[in-house]
Amino acid sequence: MERRKLLKTATLITAAAGLTACKNSTQQVLNEPSKCAESEQDVIEWKMVTAWPKNFPGLGTGAQFFADAITQMSGGRLTVKVFGSGELVPAFEVFDAVSAGTAQIGHSAAYYWKGKLPEAQYFGAVPFGMNANEMNAWLYHGGGLELWEKAYRPFGLKPLPVGQSGVQMGGWFNKEINHKEDIKGLVMRIPGMGGEILSRAGGTPQALPGAELFTALQTGTIDATEWVGPYNDLAFGLYQAAQFYYYPGWHEPTACLEAMINQKAFDALPEDLKSIVELAAMAANQNMLAEFNANNQRALDTLVNEHQVELREYPDEVLQVFKTYAEDVLSELGEQSELSKEIYLSYKKFADQTKNWLKVSELAYLKVR
Ligand code: CA
Repeated sequence: MERRKLLKTATLITAAAGLTACKNSTQQVLNEPSKCAESEQDVIEWKMVTAWPKNFPGLGTGAQFFADAITQMSGGRLTVKVFGSGELVPAFEVFDAVSAGTAQIGHSAAYYWKGKLPEAQYFGAVPFGMNANEMNAWLYHGGGLELWEKAYRPFGLKPLPVGQSGVQMGGWFNKEINHKEDIKGLVMRIPGMGGEILSRAGGTPQALPGAELFTALQTGTIDATEWVGPYNDLAFGLYQAAQFYYYPGWHEPTACLEAMINQKAFDALPEDLKSIVELAAMAANQNMLAEFNANNQRALDTLVNEHQVELREYPDEVLQVFKTYAEDVLSELGEQSELSKEIYLSYKKFADQTKNWLKVSELAYLKVR
């Protein structure tokens, strides 16, 4: 009798201890303990911190798509809750927060981290560099992602491409750009390597946050600003503050967005959930480019036809000046460290090769379409 009673008590304790997350009734726990354990005990909850306001067109919606894809594909075993910039951590603290494990995923752009890791810039946007399709080819099939992993490994982070903006626009101007001399003294909001190039060409780059662009442009504090492309720029109302809309966005032939995942959190996942995270990232990466392309084309029509925006192409001589300085800036970045050199050489070799292919494929085809 005593032994039977002891056994029964032990069973109850085991059931209760192993199933703290189980919401089923006590009777169900006792009748089907293994079923409950499988369905509810193993739910993993991740936080995703992002560098954008929640559901910001393209970037924020892309982060949400990625989070939802993981939650849905895993049948709820791995749930991801998205936090907009400033909700859990500010935009520029995403890298440190995920590295420290405060959140398990971050969604941002690699060039934000150039202060602590200059090599990160190759994985964000490279002036006169590869476009979205070329970038994906390099990352997935040209050794690019392995180099990115190498760069982030010391920080305990696993990077994945999660979104491409495609070619951005050159920007909004209240000053006409007809000759290379027109760049001299131009005050333009343009961050990163693009800003450095503008500076060498005689302009004055400014690094204003998005929220200040409209007023700065309207009051004449700046002569011009780049932002993203028609989809975002229309929503921002920039056409109300500037007359000319220049293309192409030589400084951002794509912005490659990133997810960074806390390596320890990733390593702790079962193999099937690891695959789900990686494949959801690929799906989100492709989906963002489609979202941008579809909406940019619609928004550009609206800007030109309804708001009478003057669409202008940068003159060749101006683009040539920018391109010359871009080569200097990039090769200098390549000299900053052994790792930077390794990435620079891989990037450049791949970009040179894929350009030859583009000439006989996309470019040749577009000319005759
Ligand atoms: Ca931009």
